Amino acid sequence: MLRPCHFCGHLLEETYRVCIECGRPNRTPKQVRTLGWVLVGIGAFLVVFMAGLSLVVGRIIARSGNHEATTRFTGDTSDAAIMFGIFGVIALFGLLGMAAGASQVHQGRVNRRMVTVVLVLGVAIFVGAQLSLLFL
Ligand SMILES: [Zn+2]
Repeated sequence: MLRPCHFCGHLLEETYRVCIECGRPNRTPKQVRTLGWVLVGIGAFLVVFMAGLSLVVGRIIARSGNHEATTRFTGDTSDAAIMFGIFGVIALFGLLGMAAGASQVHQGRVNRRMVTVVLVLGVAIFVGAQLSLLFL
């Protein structure tokens, strides 16, 4: 039975292991859905983790006025803004990953445009982190 490649749409025999057009793995819709769920899981983890981290850091900052506090935030408000901005971008990355995964589960095929957006944002976060290590 012929089935379209999940990446380029080329019609392939189910028995092919890779696409003869684009060379990517010829996955069954079931495998694509499973990968979609994995994406949703990773995305949800990132969102929950960043939300938790924001809460913890927010509480440390709120406590910093207290002189008896053992953990104190030493940066100023712009440091805090940058930090929460980074948390937000990573949470957004998680949300996009969830959305890409959900559409993959729903459609049984890879949404290339969404995967591209997620990858570009992921690379941007990585490059941004490297640059901030160099300059901060
Ligand atoms: Zn292909």
